[in-house]
Amino acid sequence: EKLQSANEKIRALESVERNTSLPEKNEKIKVGVDLGTAYIVLVALGENNRPLAVEMQYAQVVRDGLVVDFVGARQIVVKLKDKLEERLGRELHHAAIAVPPGTQEADCKSHKYVVEGAGLDVIEILDEPTAANGVLGILSGAIVDIGGGTTGISVLQEGKVVYVADEATGGVHLSLVLAGHYKIPYEEAENLKKDKERHQEILPVVRPVLEKMASIVKRHVSGYAIDNIYLVGGTCCLTGMEKVFQDYLSIPVHKPQNPFLVTPLGIALGS
Ligand code: ATP
Repeated sequence: EKLQSANEKIRALESVERNTSLPEKNEKIKVGVDLGTAYIVLVALGENNRPLAVEMQYAQVVRDGLVVDFVGARQIVVKLKDKLEERLGRELHHAAIAVPPGTQEADCKSHKYVVEGAGLDVIEILDEPTAANGVLGILSGAIVDIGGGTTGISVLQEGKVVYVADEATGGVHLSLVLAGHYKIPYEEAENLKKDKERHQEILPVVRPVLEKMASIVKRHVSGYAIDNIYLVGGTCCLTGMEKVFQDYLSIPVHKPQNPFLVTPLGIALGS
């Protein structure tokens, strides 16, 4: 199995979502901060990259890779940092962050200022696909990152990102379709979408949006000889969406354990 090592790392991280693994007295701690459209996630790793704790919050302070609510974003990072410090019994001083590929310098700075405003020195700014590939470790193929607002495509050759694209169709659009279909408020649709028990039922409802995402991927990878596609990002947690992609693209599609955690873990690994 191609993703065995990635899956082991992600499982280890999942196990500290609630149960903190305490650091030794002088153990160095790495922190990754993922400022997303839908979630802000902080990951703490100890020596040898052993997961220690994770904190996250649903937040709408970033849109299309831009920080749209600076004060709100900083407050959330402060809160999550405080929670991590309390769980770990240690102060945290620095972090790595990631930005979507192609982010302009001014926008990179706004991500950095949010995190520094929350009291963490930013020691590394990665691009998101490179961070994700720090976990996946693939040499060639495409990484498809479907988050809240966008579908991102990165083509890798010899372990390096050689092409990137980002288009505005993401998890938000699945929730909008569910809200319309079931005649429920958006927030309720978000929860419905995250309820694994309902995934089989909702898949046919959201299939057209998933096919649109797959068509975006197809258009962007068509100029490359892609023999494997790897899915990351929270939207890929939807059970069965990988099959819709594989049927549409006729390319093997691989989904790691908990695609939501791949990039946040990769950011912390890169710090
Ligand atoms: P972006 O990458 O667009 O900046 P982000 O980094 O916040 O956004 P992620 O955290 O990767 O994106 O994913 C968020 C999206 O994943 C949201 O739309 C959320 O509803 C969806 N999501 C999270 N968990 C699940 C789940 N278990 N099942 C289905 N969808 C999920």
